[in-house]
Amino acid sequence: MRATAAATLAALVALSASGNAAHAQDPSAIDWDAVRVESMEHFKALLRIDTSNPPGNETAAATYLRGILEREGIETELFALDPSRANLVARIGGDGSARPILVMAHTDVVGTQPENWSVDPFAAVTRDGYVYGRGSLDDKDNVTAGLMLMLLLKRTGMRLGRDVIFLAEAGEEGTTTWGIDYMVDEHWDRIDAEYCLAEGGETVSVDGRVRYVNIATTEKFPMRVRLVARGTAGHGSVPLLDNAVALLAGAVARVSGWQSPLRLNETTRTYFQRLADISTPEEASRYRGVLDPAQQPWVERYFAEHEPQHYSLLRTSVVPTMMSAGFRANVIPTEAEATFDIRALPDEDPQAFYAALAGVINDPRVEVIPQPIYRPASPPSRLDNEMFRALEATTARLFPGAATIPTMLAGATDMAQVRARGTQCYGFGPVEAMEGMTGGGGAHGDDERILESSLLPLVRYLWYTVTDVAASGG
Ligand SMILES: [Zn+2]
Repeated sequence: MRATAAATLAALVALSASGNAAHAQDPSAIDWDAVRVESMEHFKALLRIDTSNPPGNETAAATYLRGILEREGIETELFALDPSRANLVARIGGDGSARPILVMAHTDVVGTQPENWSVDPFAAVTRDGYVYGRGSLDDKDNVTAGLMLMLLLKRTGMRLGRDVIFLAEAGEEGTTTWGIDYMVDEHWDRIDAEYCLAEGGETVSVDGRVRYVNIATTEKFPMRVRLVARGTAGHGSVPLLDNAVALLAGAVARVSGWQSPLRLNETTRTYFQRLADISTPEEASRYRGVLDPAQQPWVERYFAEHEPQHYSLLRTSVVPTMMSAGFRANVIPTEAEATFDIRALPDEDPQAFYAALAGVINDPRVEVIPQPIYRPASPPSRLDNEMFRALEATTARLFPGAATIPTMLAGATDMAQVRARGTQCYGFGPVEAMEGMTGGGGAHGDDERILESSLLPLVRYLWYTVTDVAASGG
C-alpha cells in the first residue's frame, strides 16, 4: 500500500515535471515504470471486488472506478436500471474535429467453484509470475487499461481531436438487459462513437516473444432452436412407428451429419492469409488451402478433427447441447425434445437458416422452434480505416516482428450491440504465453490467471492506439 502510493506520487511528479502541453504530447514523458505499479494496484483492487454474475453487484466496481477518476478531476456518470448494477461512463473531451472513440470493458465476471481453485478467486494472489483471480483475463484487465487510459489522458493534458469515452459496463456475462442493451437503447448519446475498443482479442507469445496479435473485428451471433418430436404414446411392450424418442434421435443425427455451407468473409480470409504467413510450411498449406475452393474439402475435414476452433470459423455451426425424453422405462412418451446451439456467421439470414434446417430434418412430425435472438447481427468492422492501421502500428511498436491478425470470434460479446449501431469495433487482449494456454487458467476457467508482466503492455497497447487516432492533428 505504502510503496504503491509512493509510486503513484512518483508518476504524478514525473508527469507534472514535464507539464506543458508540448512535452505532454511526447509519450516519453510518461513514466511507464510508475504506471506499471499503479495499474497493478487498481487491477488487484478490482479483482478483490466480487462481481460474480449473478447477481453482479457491479455498482461496487463502478463506485471504485468513480472514486479514482473523480479524485483526478474526471467527471463520471452512473447509469443503473437496477441500483446494484451500475454502468459507469467517463469522457475526456476533444476539440470535436472528429467523432469519439469508445473504450468499453465489463465489470461483471462469471461465477466460480472455489473448491476447484488452488487460491481464493477474489484475493488477487500473485504466484509464479501470474496474478490469479476471477476476471483477471475477462475482463478486469481491460477495465484497468481503460481506467489508466483516462488517468493518463487527463494528467498529460494531451490535446485531442476526438472525445475519448470510457464505459465500464455491467451484465456482459449473459444479462445484457442491465448493461449494454440498457446503454445502447436508453443512453446511446453518452456512448455514441465512430470507433470502439473492447475485449475479445488475444496477444500470443511463444518462447517469450510475441508472435501475433489477434484483433476481433467481427463475431458470430448465437441463435438457438428447440426441436420437438411428437408421436403416439403407448406401452413400452408394443413398438410404434411414430415413437417420439426415435423420431427425435433421427432428426438430431441428420442435422449432426449435415454441414452448412462454407462461407468466408473479409476478416476470416485475411485471418487465414496472415496466419499462413507466420506458420510452418505444413500449417501454412492448410491455411492457404482453405482459401482455395478446390482444397477446402480436405482442409475442413482436417480442421474438424484437429482444429475445431478453425472449423467453426468456416460456417454457421449447429451443435446439439440438450435432449430430454420420457419419464418411465415402460412408457412411450408423446413428445421428445432437443436443443441446438447455433452460432451464425455475421451475414446469416435466420429465417432462411431455420428453413434449411427443417429441410435437413425432413420430417413434419419434428417441429423446429426458433428461440429469441439476443445478440444482433452486423457486418464485420473494416480493416482499411485509421483505427485498424493504428492497431497495426501499435503492434509494430510494442511487439516488433509480430503480425496483426483480424479475427472472428466464435463466441459473442457486447461489441455486437455496438456494431449494430454502426460503430466500428475492435477487440484486443493481453499477452498470453502459448505454452501456458493449455491446462486451464483461461477466461471462465478455474484458476483464471494473467501473466503479471502483461498488464503494462495492455495499458500501453490501448494508450498508443487511442492517442494515435484521437490526438488532434493526427
Ligand atoms: Zn468478457
